[in-house]
Amino acid sequence: MDVRKQIDLKTDVLIVGGGAAGLSAAVAAARNGLKVTLVERYGFCGGGAVAGMSGTICGLYQAFKPEKPILEQVVFGFANEFINALEGRNGIGDPVLYGNTYTRVHDPLVWRHVSDGFIRHENIQVIYHAMVVGVITSGNGSDEVLGAKVFTKQGLLDIRAKMTIDASGDAEVVAMAGLPSFIGDEGKVQNPTMIFRILGVDVEAFIKKYGDNAIKGQEVASLIQSKNEQKQYFLPRSKVFLFPTTRPNELLCNCTRILGDDGRELNPLFYQDFTEAELNGREQVTEYARFFKENLIGCEQSFVNDTGVQVGVRQTRQVEGKYKLTNKDVVVGSKFENGIARSAWPIELHSGNKPRVEWLYNDFYEIPYECFIPQRGKNILVAGRCLSAEHEAVASARVTAQCFAYGQAIGEAASICIKNNLQPNQLSGSDLRLVLNQKGAQLN
Ligand SMILES: Cc1cc2nc3c(=O)[nH]c(=O)nc-3n(C[C@H](O)[C@H](O)[C@H](O)COP(=O)(O)OP(=O)(O)OC[C@H]3O[C@@H](n4cnc5c(N)ncnc54)[C@H](O)[C@@H]3O)c2cc1C
Repeated sequence: MDVRKQIDLKTDVLIVGGGAAGLSAAVAAARNGLKVTLVERYGFCGGGAVAGMSGTICGLYQAFKPEKPILEQVVFGFANEFINALEGRNGIGDPVLYGNTYTRVHDPLVWRHVSDGFIRHENIQVIYHAMVVGVITSGNGSDEVLGAKVFTKQGLLDIRAKMTIDASGDAEVVAMAGLPSFIGDEGKVQNPTMIFRILGVDVEAFIKKYGDNAIKGQEVASLIQSKNEQKQYFLPRSKVFLFPTTRPNELLCNCTRILGDDGRELNPLFYQDFTEAELNGREQVTEYARFFKENLIGCEQSFVNDTGVQVGVRQTRQVEGKYKLTNKDVVVGSKFENGIARSAWPIELHSGNKPRVEWLYNDFYEIPYECFIPQRGKNILVAGRCLSAEHEAVASARVTAQCFAYGQAIGEAASICIKNNLQPNQLSGSDLRLVLNQKGAQLN
């Protein structure tokens, strides 16, 4: 039993998680003059983009038909502001081709500094190295969330908040509060990937040989398949994404596909699966790096520089919201009057031995506010990849530009609710959209 004294804190908005969504929500709420407390288990912000080293900001631009490349941006607002700040520190590259769209490669080290800059500038109380381990409810069966219990090395914090935003990526608060949630496609989630960077690459020679599209083509895929079949290497994924970065002689490698020791697909919500993902992820990094060095032009002198702090987790638990974004919404480009964010990202489903990519050309879809309101519960909103969306829809809606947009919208929603004494389901998505447009989201 922990005999240390509990520490009591009070705030207006408690944000759980400092990924793209959590930071963006924190900035929006702080700019509305509210006291904001952000709790993050690591010692830095960035979540999947930094700790998982996902490495690029996807979802900013529309996809185009292969014969007609265009660069058409669809997400603005805080995403733009964050990108400008990254640019100011040389922490993001120009748009690079990614299949039939573009993405922008960022530097995860610069991301940390830029996030800290926003936190200090907006006077956000950030508590790093702090893990939410429980939720505080009124306990009268009303599903009223009053805040969270947080583990720190100093002892347990009891943080009381007028509104709690679950930006944990895993719908942690929702689950702890016993509010409705679900996991993937009947429990099946997309596979984790351990991302890594290699240095010592002759990037010019590499691009000359394999082209400037980060999704590498058939030549590389066939080579991987044949070496794998000959059992020279263990390379379970043949369609690989390799990006030049903002740093010289470097490639960011999104190529592993991590399975359990017995070949099962892993769900990082389970502690054994998460552990196996780390162990097997590091082994696969070694295998792919060896394959690159021994087989790919430009990579002859390459070596692993670093991996993500943790294995990259694409999908776990999601909230059951007042609305669930459907696979069809994504494919047909649905628009909603209560749409509070846009996405043009394809369905990029990492399941099986090859990622499946399904494009929405020259269009975008919108994500309604109700995807972030739990079906039940008071004083709680969700932001980020744990939104309410079907399995394939979330394989599109989860990327970074969208998570920035969700965070901004939900930080704004929390502020309106607190100031007007409303519950999240009493605020209309179309009113929220108006406010977001006034603040630069460019949704119209
Ligand atoms: C392998 C991989 C490759 C990807 N590639 C790309 C890409 O190229 N481009 C792109 O745009 N997107 C990519 N993505 C997706 C993207 O990185 C994420 O979906 C996005 O970063 C999610 O942001 P988020 O804020 O919703 O959640 P997260 O980034 O997951 O942030 C959640 C935060 O909450 C914290 N947290 C969780 N639980 C607790 C707790 N109990 N207490 C305290 N803190 C907690 C975590 O530490 C984390 O910082 C990729 C993802 C993966 C896994």
